[in-house]
Amino acid sequence: MLKDQKVVVCGGGGFIGGHLIGDLLRSGHTGVRSVDIKPVDEWYQRFPEAENLQLDLGRLEDCQAALKGAAVVYNLAADMGGMGFIENNKALCMLSVLINTHLLMAAKDHGVQRFFYASSACVYNADKQRDPNVTALKESDAYPAMPEDGYGWEKLFSERMCRHFREDFGMQTRVARYHNVYGPHGTWEGGREKAPAAICRKVIAAKRSGKHEIEIWGDGKQTRSFMYITDCLKGTQDLTWSDITEPLNIGSSELVSINQLVDIVEGIAGVKLNRNYNLSAPKGVNGRNSDNTRIKELMGWEPDTRLAVGLEKTYRWIYDQIASQV
Ligand code: NAD
Repeated sequence: MLKDQKVVVCGGGGFIGGHLIGDLLRSGHTGVRSVDIKPVDEWYQRFPEAENLQLDLGRLEDCQAALKGAAVVYNLAADMGGMGFIENNKALCMLSVLINTHLLMAAKDHGVQRFFYASSACVYNADKQRDPNVTALKESDAYPAMPEDGYGWEKLFSERMCRHFREDFGMQTRVARYHNVYGPHGTWEGGREKAPAAICRKVIAAKRSGKHEIEIWGDGKQTRSFMYITDCLKGTQDLTWSDITEPLNIGSSELVSINQLVDIVEGIAGVKLNRNYNLSAPKGVNGRNSDNTRIKELMGWEPDTRLAVGLEKTYRWIYDQIASQV
C-alpha cells in the first residue's frame, strides 16, 4: 500500500492499537487515523503525528465518520479484558458486535480495500480445552461451535460477518485469532488486566512491601501460551497484506502453567513468594495453546519471542508505572 493512504486503527487508545499506530508511523505512514471511545488523554499511547478521534464505534454514524477516506481498517476496538472481566461482563462483551457490524457496513460504503479483524482464541470449542495437557488448538477446532460464553460467541459471530462481507460484497477481510497478547503499555491494574500483567504487578507489590505472598487465581496448573506484542504486530501486518482469507491463529506455542509463569516473574524480580490459591476466582479453561502449523505453512514464521524475554520488558515497564505512582 502507499504510505500516504488513509489507515484507520480502531481501538487506537488501547494496548495493541497503540502499538500498531507507533509501528505504522515509524514505517513512514503519513495518513494514520486513530479512533477510540476513551478521551484522548486516557489513551495508553498518544501520537500527535496521527489524527486522533474520540468516537463511539458502536454507533453507525460514528463509524461512517471514522472511516471517511479510509483505504485500510484495523479493527482492534472491543469492550474486553482478562478472565476477571469477561466472565463477569458477558453482555458488555457481546455488545462489541455493534462495533464490528457497523465498521463493516461503513467500510463497504467507503470502499475500504483491506479490513483486519482481531478475533481471539476464545472462539475455540470448550470441550477441546478441558485438560491442562492440551493438544494445541488448530483453526478447524472452532467448529462445532462451543466458544467462551459472551466474549467468544461475539468473536465467532463477528468472524462470520467478516467472511460473509468478503463472500457477498467482495470486501478483503482478514481475521486473526490472537492468543493472549502481553507487553508494555497494556492494562496492568483495574480489573481488565490479563495474567502476565497481573502476576507482574502482584510480584512487584510483594517485593516492594516485603510481604512475600501472592494470590493466584485457580490452582495454578491451568496452562496457556502468551505472545509478546512485537510478534502480534508482525503477524497482524503480514496477515493483513496476505491472501489468507480464513481465520488464522496468531499466538505463541510456548505452553506454560500459571505456576511456571509465576516462577519466571519471581526469577526476574529475584524473590520467592508463598502462593495462596484462590479456587473460586475466575480461571477460564484448563488448558489452551496455539497450533501454529498453518501460520508456519502460509507465512514461514511463527511468534517466537521467548516468554522470559518478553516478560522481563513487561515487568520493567509495570515496575516503572508503580514506582511513578508513589
Ligand atoms: P484494549 O482493551 O487495550 O483495547 C481496546 C480498545 O477499544 C480500548 O482502548 C477501548 O476503549 C476501545 N473501545 C471499546 N469500545 C469502543 C467503542 N465503542 N468505540 C471505540 N473504541 C472502543 O484491548 P487490546 O488488548 O488492545 O485488544 C485489541 C483487540 O484484540 C480486541 O478486539 C481484543 O478482543 C482482541 N484480542 C486481544 C487479546 C489480548 O490478549 N490482548 C487476545 C485476543 C484478542
